[in-house]
Amino acid sequence: MRKLLNKNLDELKKEDIVKIKLVCFDCDGVTVEKGTEIIKETEREIIVTKQISSGLVEKIKELSKYFQISFSSGRSMLYLKKMYGRVLGKGVSLQSEIGLFSLVKGELKQNFVLSDYELGVIKKIRDDLEKLENEKIKGFEPKLFLITLHSWGVIEEVEQIVRKYDYKNEFYCWWNEEAYDIAPKRINKGSALKKLGERLGIKVEEMMTVGNGINDKNMIEQVGVGVSTDGLHLEADFVVEGEHLGGEMVVDKLLELVEGA
Ligand SMILES: [Mg+2]
Repeated sequence: MRKLLNKNLDELKKEDIVKIKLVCFDCDGVTVEKGTEIIKETEREIIVTKQISSGLVEKIKELSKYFQISFSSGRSMLYLKKMYGRVLGKGVSLQSEIGLFSLVKGELKQNFVLSDYELGVIKKIRDDLEKLENEKIKGFEPKLFLITLHSWGVIEEVEQIVRKYDYKNEFYCWWNEEAYDIAPKRINKGSALKKLGERLGIKVEEMMTVGNGINDKNMIEQVGVGVSTDGLHLEADFVVEGEHLGGEMVVDKLLELVEGA
């Protein structure tokens, strides 16, 4: 693996992106503000999610004239489509549940087929987590296979439950400051990008990725150029500094480089 130098995004030059054909962005905290709320009532559950801003919609449309664009997230495809529907279309694809599914040119594909072992472990973990009583727990985010448990903070029993059933040690249990994501390690944003590249005829070295946390690590390390919008939690070739939404700053920088503005 190449050495990640954490250079300031200002140092990104035109020559760094000459080979780049696809740019993949993470979602929460990168292209939309963080903050999912799960409101539980007796008969219903409400999930409140932030949307991509109108300003960023226009910029992404402009950027898609120069690169294939992808958004990769732990979220379910239904939510992603709701969040990014305004930019979806020619040249813009979505990857959901940490790479398990891809929506490309109107076609949804499952990138990985789960084994009997994996399905069994997912079910047992999920059953145990549902029984877990802890005041920090907010609730589960609806997903097809990925387990996402939102909580107010770290809950030690979550990791213990995963280890109890995953005796082959094939699963990750990632805490992303908002929620736990639990799924087989082989299903990640990096391996999913390879699959996306096969569909689009683009090599991973011709990709640039932008992320901010642990579930973005695989896709940062495997591609041509990796950008982190959170230097504290994720190393990359380039790091965005500042208070503003990091993904939008990367979009601005790319537009400046390709349009010479
Ligand atoms: Mg992230």
